[in-house]
Amino acid sequence: MSDVTRDPLTIWLSDVVGRAGFSGVHDFVREYALKSYRLKQLYQAATKQLLDDVDSVTTLPKELRGELVARGITFSSVEPIVLQTSSDKQTTKGLFRLRDGKEVEAVLMEHFGDRTTVCISSQAGCAFACAFCSTGQAGFTRNLTPTEIFDQARFFARELAMRGKRITNVVFMGMGEPFHNYESVMSAVALLNDGQGFGLGHRHITISTVGLVDKIDRFSDEGVQVNLAISLHAPNDEVRSSFMPVNRKFPVSELMAACERYVAKTNRKVFFEYVMLAGVNDSDACAHDLAALMRGHIYHVNLIPYNSTPDAPFSGTPDNRIWAFAKILENAGVPSTVRHNMGRDIAAACGQLRAQTQPKAHMASAGA
Ligand code: SAH
Repeated sequence: MSDVTRDPLTIWLSDVVGRAGFSGVHDFVREYALKSYRLKQLYQAATKQLLDDVDSVTTLPKELRGELVARGITFSSVEPIVLQTSSDKQTTKGLFRLRDGKEVEAVLMEHFGDRTTVCISSQAGCAFACAFCSTGQAGFTRNLTPTEIFDQARFFARELAMRGKRITNVVFMGMGEPFHNYESVMSAVALLNDGQGFGLGHRHITISTVGLVDKIDRFSDEGVQVNLAISLHAPNDEVRSSFMPVNRKFPVSELMAACERYVAKTNRKVFFEYVMLAGVNDSDACAHDLAALMRGHIYHVNLIPYNSTPDAPFSGTPDNRIWAFAKILENAGVPSTVRHNMGRDIAAACGQLRAQTQPKAHMASAGA
């Protein structure tokens, strides 16, 4: 067990005062002689009432507010610089600038009914270089802090609140590999989940991983009800290694064994993502191999239509072929869903918006 705190208020406050140049929460508290209820007021104003900034926290004395603002205490670590809404209005993609000028993407999807999903980034860039993925092609830049991750959800929660709506689901399927920034991601989960703050249930959060076996084992011991999704994308080493370099470190058999250990410990379902790449992983043989891997477990396959990107030499499997693939799974008794492709007209797939606005980042080596 690490000694890193999972107390949401402390996580949030450390980041916020750190951004303003304090060396830690103690220094901040001492400088303003703050009582603990004041800290809670600040925290809840940002995470529960979703207020814009310190100046809007009317429960704080006006003078104190002025001082905190002047000292650089702010509620958001991410600034939206591009917002695009799809023609059907169901998908809004945001490009956010971090304080050091790095950029990440997050996407809001408003489904029929009241369901709303926000897809957030955990890193600027990604070190795993999946050949079909726009972010993967651009390389790794840096890890996000817990609040940089959380504030993407906070931003869209504020947008939705203006329309009387709220976020019902958060998925870590934006830029980056969540398990490559494990501590910050688990801290962001604590912020999202806190009943005294943002208040999103663990079961409404999904972490998607490229398949880091050691971190899957660690996650199995967390004792949280957060959903786990695995970017499998191929049913055997030959196909998977051809476009996912991580497979050379953690081959399919080891990945599946880690998933079995996870289920044994948590008794929770595992979701497998399978992006459909024409002529690469969409054959009948692949479907049969995939069915064989899945059969007999509490697993669910999400077949994902590929959003083609100019910087990757792949094209999406045609719809009729996706359905034929899904039929083979069904006949084998494997539950699957063909994911609805949202936001195709606004480059809503991982890393696409950033790729349009920025040159490629430095290529980094992939490693867990
Ligand atoms: N690193 C994590 C999470 C980020 S990617 C992971 O690998 O799971 C989230 C999902 O989007 C992954 O399943 C990824 O394979 C998929 N994805 C990436 N680019 C895509 C594209 N252009 N079209 C469709 N899905 C894509």
